[in-house]
Amino acid sequence: MADAGKKTVVVKEGYLVTGKAEKVVEIDVDTFLCKGCGICVEMCPRKVFEWSRELSEKGVHYPIPVNADKCVKCKLCELLCPDFAIAVRW
Ligand code: SF4
Ligand code: SF4
Repeated sequence: MADAGKKTVVVKEGYLVTGKAEKVVEIDVDTFLCKGCGICVEMCPRKVFEWSRELSEKGVHYPIPVNADKCVKCKLCELLCPDFAIAVRW
């Protein structure tokens, strides 16, 4: 049975796209810094990210943490992003 408290909510404010799973994790993607390389999308073991349909200010598709509720807090995405565009907090 799905836990409603862990359901992902995605919000976009300015350059920041945030996927939140309440009481679990918050994943911020800075769309101004992101160059759309796809490392985070490919390397996340839980397939947390999906590509945006729209283009960013830089003219690239960016990852959206649509499945933040599945995040295991390994921080791989944050550590591997070459442009320091992701922050994972809990
Ligand atoms: S911390 Fe790990 S599981 Fe969570 S989004 Fe990043 S790579 Fe995926
Ligand atoms: S690894 Fe960083 S630069 Fe590459 S797509 Fe992900 S957020 Fe963007």
